[in-house]
Amino acid sequence: MSDKIALSTWPTPLEPLPRLAAALGLGEDDLWIKRDDLIGLGGGGNKVRKLEWIVGAALADGADTLVTTGAAQSNHARLTAAAGARLGLDVVLVFPGTPDSATDGSGNLVLDSLFGARIFWAGDGVPSALAGVADDVCRRLCRDGARPYPIPFGGSSPLGARGYVDGGEELLAQLPDMDHVVVALGSGGTMAGLIGAVGERRVLGVHCGAVADPAATVADLAGALTGRSIGADSLRIRTDQVGAGYAVLHEPVLEAMQLAATTEGIVLDPVYTGRAMAGLIAAVRDGDIRSGRRTVFLHTGGLPGLFGHTAAVRRTVGALHSYSAG
Ligand SMILES: *Cc1c(COP(=O)(O)O)cnc(C)c1O
Repeated sequence: MSDKIALSTWPTPLEPLPRLAAALGLGEDDLWIKRDDLIGLGGGGNKVRKLEWIVGAALADGADTLVTTGAAQSNHARLTAAAGARLGLDVVLVFPGTPDSATDGSGNLVLDSLFGARIFWAGDGVPSALAGVADDVCRRLCRDGARPYPIPFGGSSPLGARGYVDGGEELLAQLPDMDHVVVALGSGGTMAGLIGAVGERRVLGVHCGAVADPAATVADLAGALTGRSIGADSLRIRTDQVGAGYAVLHEPVLEAMQLAATTEGIVLDPVYTGRAMAGLIAAVRDGDIRSGRRTVFLHTGGLPGLFGHTAAVRRTVGALHSYSAG
């Protein structure tokens, strides 16, 4: 039946956010955080739940090498590297750019290397061509006698999305009267899986600019996952936090990061979880999320990405608070 393998210890904690709730004008019981950033493999994050299914299928297939794609600061690539290390599989990561792109390497790239993954630099073409390059890499690996297993961008196949059917069911067991779960929408598998567990009405996705058509992407994945037709227009998706694009620091996101950090000691990243929190704050302001309702913020990880984001690092260090005595 299922070839799912365990890559962490479950469930992840669910914690209240009373000081952040108060800062937003919500009741102190209204706001919760699901700590998938604390998943115990490779620095944690949402991709581990997907990889439990995907790598399970790879092992069942007799694969010995995992191949995936992403941006150089991909959290998914880092966690694929960690899963490979944990299971004794080789890992090849296909990134856009050239080896020079790594000279100021930091954040996730440091961890990719530490986990022993090899990187294939695909050159400066369009990111959408990466899947084709990954196919070429798989053919070459086969010629060299390896048994590669390709994993799509973000681990967002219907199989990978099953990891968030699991995550959504885990959350419902922890907070049965949950009204909203707010999540960053990247490659779409996390939101699709949550919909599979809790239905489309309770999931609010915040688009991060990683895909061209977020509603169609999530609707297709959720439809394939659940076997029922899910209309793109039935999904709750905010597109107001993309700003100038996926990799570009968006001002409300920096403010959301500062608010979560100073009220709760929670670290968000500038690409995904900071956008999700900025979207949650905007939803409170425009009345989509009201007090008296139970709202869960899904923390999907991404901390290493903060250190790989030059603009976010500069702005944060630039705001260092100094204290001078006397
Ligand atoms: C990949 C990622 C997301 C988005 O998840 P998708 O399933 O790709 O939509 C959110 N947060 C972090 C930190 C991620 O790495």
